[in-house]
Amino acid sequence: MSGYITNNMDTSVVAACDITKKWLEKEPDIKEITSLIVQTSLFNKFLGDGRSIATAVAERHPEFKSVAQTIKDNTVILARDNGSEYGKILSNELDLIVPFYNSADWNEEPDYVSLLLAYGTWGFKDRKEEYDRTMQMLFSFLDQHETLSDRAKLNLIMSMWFWDYEGFQDRVMTVLTKNDETTAAADSAGYIQTHMDDLVMLAINLAKEEGTDFSQASIEGALYLSWLGKRYGVSQVIAARHPVFTAFIKQIETDDLVITNPASSSDEILDTIQREAFKILEYKQKEEALAQDVDFVSLQLAFSCWMLKDAKEEYEKDIIPLFAVLDSQRELSPASMLNLIASMWFWNYDNFQDRVMQRLSDIVNQYQEELQKEQEKRLEYRKRGVCQYCGGAFKGLLSKKCSVCGRSKDY
Ligand SMILES: [Zn+2]
Repeated sequence: MSGYITNNMDTSVVAACDITKKWLEKEPDIKEITSLIVQTSLFNKFLGDGRSIATAVAERHPEFKSVAQTIKDNTVILARDNGSEYGKILSNELDLIVPFYNSADWNEEPDYVSLLLAYGTWGFKDRKEEYDRTMQMLFSFLDQHETLSDRAKLNLIMSMWFWDYEGFQDRVMTVLTKNDETTAAADSAGYIQTHMDDLVMLAINLAKEEGTDFSQASIEGALYLSWLGKRYGVSQVIAARHPVFTAFIKQIETDDLVITNPASSSDEILDTIQREAFKILEYKQKEEALAQDVDFVSLQLAFSCWMLKDAKEEYEKDIIPLFAVLDSQRELSPASMLNLIASMWFWNYDNFQDRVMQRLSDIVNQYQEELQKEQEKRLEYRKRGVCQYCGGAFKGLLSKKCSVCGRSKDY
């Protein structure tokens, strides 16, 4: 017993998704796809394209005249209301429909049957158990029909959604939200947005590797050291391609003053660096395919953010497009990521500094909490005269050792 519905379930799911997507294009304010949104979009499509069929049916069966009008008048309310409040408005009209389940010539009128089904599943969706037998009969009739019109198929999609026929709602939501996630990741939320937490942790780990004390200034120093290119050799690669940077990179790398304590660098050094920063920004203007040269862009960005961070307002319009180039990437090389982290810190892009400091303080607090618990536990073990590390009993007369972890008694 497998017919149209059974063989075309996936097609129907995709069709339902397409209807929702088209409807969403006209509703730019809606950001999130929920079941209710899908239902509203299907309902609107049904009324739009189904109006002519409703009219045709009403001509043949005057008793139906008010049904299409009632639904049309209450479109917004009906689509949004999942309860029976507005279903009651329809119930009198639907009572008219029921007799036609028997009177319709089902074989000759699949369009009509599909309309009955759509109206019926909508009107009685809150009384599923009561009407399930009737609806299943209509579903099964349409399932046997090999040549359904587009209108009948549309009505069928609606009906399957309303009746949640064979888990139709879940099927649609699965396809829709999967597409939604992929599109969102690729289009709107870029690399930086989707990886913000990772970038924060990377900054913290870089700082840890440099063994700083986690003050704001020392984290900055650690990041500064990292992006100089000692880790991944980006600077050298880029200097080889663009000789203008050779002297500049060397100067920064060899200048301990600048490296360990940027704030105390002499005016002379800063002046030189500033001049080079302008060269970098000029180079940006000449570069035609920034997106093809991501490592280089990230280095430019890091240099520029460092040099120009005290003149943020003035250079914001030059810097932000460079962030955008990196944000539009799906993946970044380790070198680009390093440059990006440094840039975000120097520019305090999207409050990056606060995010890092907040995360650090969370980590420190958590560590202290664990330390506190550990000390309380040891105190309790010592009171009980057992091993303070694991709570094991001691054995031996002269030198007492833990019978579990083997450590000597040390209190
Ligand atoms: Zn022990």
